[in-house]
Amino acid sequence: MKHKLWINGAWVDSRDGGTMAIENPATGETIAEVVNASAADVDAAVNAAHTAFYDGRWSRLTPSERSLALWRLADLLQARAEDFARAESENTGKPYQFVSLGADMPFAIDNVRFFASAARDTHGYSAGEYAKGFTSMYRREPVGVVGQITPWNYPLMMAIWKIGPALAAGCTVVLKPAPGTPLTTLMLAELCAEAGIPAGVLNIVTGGNETGQALVEHPFVRMVSLTGSTGTGKKIMRTASESLKRVHLELGGKAPFIVFDDVDVENVAAVATLTSTFNTGQDCTAATRVYVEKSQYSNVLEAIVEGMRGVKVGRQFDDGVQMGPLISNTQRERVQGFVERARAAGAQVVTGGGVPADLDSGYFYAPTVITDADQKSEVIQSEIFGPVLTISTFDGESEAIQYGNDVLYGLAASVWTKDIGRAMRIARELEFGTVWINDHIPLTSETPHGGFKQSGFGKDLSAEAVNDYRITKHVMVKNG
Ligand code: NAD
Repeated sequence: MKHKLWINGAWVDSRDGGTMAIENPATGETIAEVVNASAADVDAAVNAAHTAFYDGRWSRLTPSERSLALWRLADLLQARAEDFARAESENTGKPYQFVSLGADMPFAIDNVRFFASAARDTHGYSAGEYAKGFTSMYRREPVGVVGQITPWNYPLMMAIWKIGPALAAGCTVVLKPAPGTPLTTLMLAELCAEAGIPAGVLNIVTGGNETGQALVEHPFVRMVSLTGSTGTGKKIMRTASESLKRVHLELGGKAPFIVFDDVDVENVAAVATLTSTFNTGQDCTAATRVYVEKSQYSNVLEAIVEGMRGVKVGRQFDDGVQMGPLISNTQRERVQGFVERARAAGAQVVTGGGVPADLDSGYFYAPTVITDADQKSEVIQSEIFGPVLTISTFDGESEAIQYGNDVLYGLAASVWTKDIGRAMRIARELEFGTVWINDHIPLTSETPHGGFKQSGFGKDLSAEAVNDYRITKHVMVKNG
């Protein structure tokens, strides 16, 4: 199927852009064709969003009116959940059982419902007399036209995490999905129109990095929100600095998974296996660095290796599949490069480390466990974005904290211990936006998700995300 661009509430042809083929990564087959939007297309989309913002068709609605449209969107998404799940699964290779109504979709729908409610939250800002003879008011106004750029790992969810808070705040949006995974974002645009979100409020331009660059450069865009790699975040921040745009960056991660000796080894291994292979490890919060207190090392290693060997890898619609392919051949070569360099540097690849024998088409990679890697080595320091786990030892609390913090990233971490005092001490010391104790990966709509250090700044999810799309104005009235 050939898709167009969604601009000003209609499907439109590109002015002068080319096209891009969209693949099913489990087979390598082309499943659709989309526009590779040019700078002229981006300009048309931003102009539509600019007009829609300044004529107030969305920004001047009451919060309850905006909220109602978002509630309708959630209901429509619920009604079409199966279609969205099938399309997402086909475009990303994710096992259908993890995207369907039993998994991702209810969370995505709940995210929209949360932002529908958050649209009406006044955050306690109020008027008052702070100088004699004057009344001051805080106005929380929408920032304006927002350029939003998403990655390929959770295309629909990332689109919702971007447009939900921006629309709740009253902004208008031009969103560019990742080049390979735009299909559910395009479906979402049409659903927004059906929900009564006016034309021009949400615009979708498909395309690659240059399309994104044109969006970041556009003078009418007041804020850019990216979920993507740290390298892209740095580039966008540099470009945005030219016109001093506000930036909101959800970037890479390299989550530590810190295991003390007082744990239930089977449970720890099951969660480490699940959270390092979920979405084929293409998750910014995936468990990637397991650190085990020395006395439990061999038990935890053995249980995790057994767990990783038991993961059922396969095509998205096959029965019981737990892990699909990587998103592309480029990504598979990248993952393989990390594993080969680790091996060459003296680390042991205990299981995995290649393509599963029975899956010769598509971009599959076996769940992989690496031991004996140096803390300073690339495989421990860099985000791999594949089903690759390193397992190392530590000796005592302070070494656990030191190793946990010793990367450039700071998105998410977990600590495993029955000693609640120790868990709380470590949670305070870890420099990560989320710290889980005795679990790894769960998120809720109410709780903020975002990084420290080179994992970026700004929050997705939670009321904080909505506030990130607002700007405070002080109005002072002489009353005497
Ligand atoms: P990427 O950085 O390659 O691309 C992300 C998006 O940015 C794509 O849409 C891409 O076209 C666009 N882009 C690239 N260069 C650009 C430029 N110069 N100007 C404007 N846009 C540009 O990331 P990816 O490979 O698609 O996704 C994986 C990355 O996303 C990982 O690093 C992962 O950790 C991160 N991620 C972070 C979170 C989080 O919440 N922190 C969530 C999911 C993914």
